[in-house]
Amino acid sequence: MAAVVKERAEGICQLCNKPAPFYNKKGEPYLECHHIVWIARGGADEVYNAVALCPNCHRKMHSLDEPADVAYLKKVAKK
Ligand SMILES: [Zn+2]
Ligand SMILES: [Zn+2]
Repeated sequence: MAAVVKERAEGICQLCNKPAPFYNKKGEPYLECHHIVWIARGGADEVYNAVALCPNCHRKMHSLDEPADVAYLKKVAKK
């Protein structure tokens, strides 16, 4: 699942739209998989509920979870 989500992102954070901050040892862009509706809140472990984020944006979503960002990511994930 996480691999599919990251592949779809093509190395670009799906929130700030900047390239991944670094490459992992395999030479793949480093992004983190995030569930838009958290699993803990009943979100589905499916591609349409997941996005690939840079570490900064991932922290931001877990710290603030701003409704505007959530709405934006939901749109992005549906594509
Ligand atoms: Zn980002
Ligand atoms: Zn997350």
